[in-house]
Amino acid sequence: MITDNDGPYVDRPIFALPAPHTWDHTPGVTLLGDAAHLMPPLGVGVNLAMLDASELALALARSATVDDAVRTYEKTMLPRSADLARKLEGGAEHLLSVHDAADAPAR
Ligand SMILES: Cc1cc2nc3c(=O)[nH]c(=O)nc-3n(C[C@H](O)[C@H](O)[C@H](O)COP(=O)(O)OP(=O)(O)OC[C@H]3O[C@@H](n4cnc5c(N)ncnc54)[C@H](O)[C@@H]3O)c2cc1C
Repeated sequence: MITDNDGPYVDRPIFALPAPHTWDHTPGVTLLGDAAHLMPPLGVGVNLAMLDASELALALARSATVDDAVRTYEKTMLPRSADLARKLEGGAEHLLSVHDAADAPAR
């Protein structure tokens, strides 16, 4: 399947941000989703991105200023994503390990 295809093999590496990843608050500017907390692909990224978006939207609707909203959002999002990133750190190596893949059909 890998060699008998329509084009050349394209290397698409898996990246992750350092755990924890954080920044100093900047008025009116923030990040969400993978831009804020890119982690190994272990099934949490889309959920976190949607949760971030929902919380930021609610904070914007409920706060007097954009800066208040960003502070409210970052107060919850940063520790949550840092905690998960620490738990998943190194997980991609295990998931994509060549040694484990060779054993997979036998399990
Ligand atoms: C192999 C793999 C498997 C995964 N499996 C899962 C899974 O099972 N479950 C799960 O929850 N998550 C999974 N994820 C993670 C999930 O895909 C991401 O966490 C999620 O897509 C992040 O959403 P996002 O909107 O933050 O970023 P993205 O989905 O990356 O969206 C960012 C968008 O911005 C666009 N963009 C970038 N630069 C610019 C620019 N300068 N101007 C305009 N547009 C720009 C990009 O083209 C892209 O469309 C997986 C990831 C990988 C790589």
